[in-house]
Amino acid sequence: MTVDVLIVGAGMSGLMAASRLQARDYSVSLIDRGRSVGGRLATRRVGDGGLADHGAQFFTVRSDTMQTYVDRWLALNLVYIWGTGWSDGSVKRTAGDGYPRYAVRGGMNQLAKHLAQGFDIALDRLVTSLRPTATGWELADSDGQTHVGRGLIMTPPMPESLELLTASRVYLHTQDFAELRRIRFGPCLCGIHEIEGEVDLPAPGAAQNFQSEIYWVADNQLKGISKTRIVTSHANAKFSRQNWDASEADIVLELESAVKPYLKEGARIVNTQLKKWRYSVPLTTYPHECMLAQDLPALVFAGDAFGGRGRVEGAFMSGLAAGDAMANALA
Ligand SMILES: Cc1cc2nc3c(=O)[nH]c(=O)nc-3n(C[C@H](O)[C@H](O)[C@H](O)COP(=O)(O)OP(=O)(O)OC[C@H]3O[C@@H](n4cnc5c(N)ncnc54)[C@H](O)[C@@H]3O)c2cc1C
Repeated sequence: MTVDVLIVGAGMSGLMAASRLQARDYSVSLIDRGRSVGGRLATRRVGDGGLADHGAQFFTVRSDTMQTYVDRWLALNLVYIWGTGWSDGSVKRTAGDGYPRYAVRGGMNQLAKHLAQGFDIALDRLVTSLRPTATGWELADSDGQTHVGRGLIMTPPMPESLELLTASRVYLHTQDFAELRRIRFGPCLCGIHEIEGEVDLPAPGAAQNFQSEIYWVADNQLKGISKTRIVTSHANAKFSRQNWDASEADIVLELESAVKPYLKEGARIVNTQLKKWRYSVPLTTYPHECMLAQDLPALVFAGDAFGGRGRVEGAFMSGLAAGDAMANALA
C-alpha cells in the first residue's frame, strides 16, 4: 500500500507531523521500533501498580501554538500542572518561579497514546533501510516488510537518522549533511528505584540541582502517576558519558547514592533498574524547525533538535512544521 507520507518515529514530533498532515488531507503511516508509541515520552511499569516516567519528566510551554493544545489537554483532564518549580534539594520547600510544569495523568507516555489515536502505526519495527525511488521512498523494516510513500519524514535523533541514511547509501546534499552533522545529543543514565517506606522529597515531589552529577530525583507516587513508591533519578550528560561503559552495578550504586539522602528513616531501595538513553536531549541544535532535504524525493528531517527549543515543546513545534513543509513539498 502506498501512502502520501511515511514517518519514521512515533514520538512527539512524528505524531504532530502526522496530525498536521492528516488535517491537510494527506494519508500517513508511522513506523517505530518501540513496543509503544512515544519515544522519549516514556513510562515504565514497575512491579504491581508502579509506574515511572523515565524519559521526559514534565514539559513547559512558551509558544501560543502549543498552549492552545495544552489548554485542550487540560480540559480533557489528560495533563495537569505538576508544579511551578523544583527545590534544588538543599531546602525542604520548593521555590516556584510561577511557570507551570505539566505532567500527564498515568505517565508521560499517555500523551503520546492520546495523540496516536486513529493513525496507522507499525510498532516494534526497526526501519533498516531507505531507498529513493522515481515516485518517492521505499523503506524496509526488521519484519521484512516494505513501506512505500511519496514523502518521508525522519524523526529519530539525528545521529541515528544519519547512520541509517549512510547505511542505506542515501547521500544528502553536502550542505544539508554538514548542517545536520553538527547536531549533537547528550546521553543520560537513568535509575528507576523501587522504594520500601517513605521518601522526603520536597513538594511537589522532585529535586533538581544542575550543580550535581545526578541532577534530578523525583517521586512518581508524589507526582501522582504511581500507586507504589517509585523514584526516578537522572545523571547529567558529562557523568553519563564518563560512566557509560562502567558496570551496571557501579552505575546503579552511584544513582542510588543520590536517592538515599531523600529516604526517611527505615526506608530502603529494594531494586533499581537502569535505563541508558544514548540520545536524551540535544546539546547542539539546528536553527530552523525542520529541514527539507535538497536534491532528493520529498524528505523532511524533524525532532527536538530542530528550532533551538529542544525538549518536548521543541519536538512538538518541529513536528507541526515538518507536516507543513511536507504538505507544501508534495502539493
Ligand atoms: C532522560 C530524559 C529526560 C528528559 N526530560 C525532559 C523534560 O523533563 N522535559 C522536556 O520537555 N523534555 C525532556 N526530555 C526530552 C524529550 O523527551 C524529547 O525532547 C522529546 O520527547 C523528543 O521527541 P522526538 O519526537 O523529537 O524524538 P523521540 O521521542 O526520540 O522519537 C523518535 C522515535 O523514533 C524511533 N526510531 C528511531 N530510530 C528508528 C528506526 N530506525 N526505525 C523505527 N523507529 C525508530 C524511536 O523509537 C522513537 O520513538 C528528556 C529526555 C530524556 C531521554
